Amino acid sequence: MAIDFQAAPSPSYIVDEALLTRNLEILQQVEARTGAKVLLAQKAFSMFALYPLIGKYLSGVASSSLFEARLGAEEMGKEVHIYAPAFREEEFDEILRYADHIVFNSFSQWDKYKDRVRAASRKISCGIRVNPEYSEVETGLYDPCAPYSRMGVTAANFQTDDLEGIDGLHFHTLCEQNSDALAHTLEAVEEKFGRYLKQMKWINFGGGHHITRSDYAIDTLIGCITRMQERYGLEVYLEPGEAVALNAGYFVSTVLDIVHNGMDLAILDSSATCHMPDVLEMPYRPKIIGAGEPGEYAYTYRLGGPTCLAGDVTGDYSFKKPLQVGDRLVFCDMAIYSMVKNNTFNGIPLPTIASYNAAEGLCVIRRFGYENFKTRLS
Ligand SMILES: *Cc1c(COP(=O)(O)O)cnc(C)c1O
Repeated sequence: MAIDFQAAPSPSYIVDEALLTRNLEILQQVEARTGAKVLLAQKAFSMFALYPLIGKYLSGVASSSLFEARLGAEEMGKEVHIYAPAFREEEFDEILRYADHIVFNSFSQWDKYKDRVRAASRKISCGIRVNPEYSEVETGLYDPCAPYSRMGVTAANFQTDDLEGIDGLHFHTLCEQNSDALAHTLEAVEEKFGRYLKQMKWINFGGGHHITRSDYAIDTLIGCITRMQERYGLEVYLEPGEAVALNAGYFVSTVLDIVHNGMDLAILDSSATCHMPDVLEMPYRPKIIGAGEPGEYAYTYRLGGPTCLAGDVTGDYSFKKPLQVGDRLVFCDMAIYSMVKNNTFNGIPLPTIASYNAAEGLCVIRRFGYENFKTRLS
């Protein structure tokens, strides 16, 4: 049985639990083979209805804010790690209630909060994010090692005399990358920060590991993990976001109108800027089931959204048959960085969130309406 996209609400995000589980099995194998702990980076995927499933396979969550930390604590209930470029004073006590690991972005932040961490009733392990100033990410928007980056402490700014209470180092320098980039990055981390690693209990490799992609070289990753374990006696954490739900979800939309201006244009009930903003930010071209590159099939259309933003265009796609008003179009790989980034710009409704499994079929988890638009405006 497959998902009946024709019967699904539109627009809607649908996560296929079997595809998600396949990813989770691969990540759990990494844990089983190495003893490393794999966390879900909620920034990429926070569909908490599926946290009980994810929690069966992974060790916990990585959070970038108090709200994400709370969500992970409430809905998964396993390890909660938090990192942010800076913490807000009024939120810190609540962070102490949820977090098992806190990663500070600077020594000034660590100095500011260390007494409160020590006084906390729970044992919390603290780390520092380092910037190895080595990255193979080519898009500036996603490169934490670009010149003048605020992400992490560089070797020149690392205070060697102030490591009392610091248990770990964290780096996050990858984006959708294979394990060769990790291996190169670790060389830079060891070269710049290796002398501190012997005093540490753990190292966190951050995210950006595309572990569940078909061409990912897992053995190189395993080698990187075991090297850190054996050489420095460290516990290793990974916090992939994308890899957890890579290719595990769809975005269903409907053709609302067909118009012409030099070429055929289809207007959809789905918006790039509201519902899949990475298409414009990254930018990238999502796959659509049954559609090809422009000109590949007989009928090419430029697909645009229902907003008044002229550039709310997902791309040019070709189809074997002419599109009709009412046709469903299904975008692929839409679980990650979609729901977490969407918005109600232009008063466009948020898509329905659904999951699919063979036993229960399509389960609509949440629908959104006018209140969701109104209550965030005043
Ligand atoms: C974004 C981010 C992640 C997850 O990255 P993915 O590319 O989704 O795997 C993990 N850790 C930190 C600190 C991040 O900023």
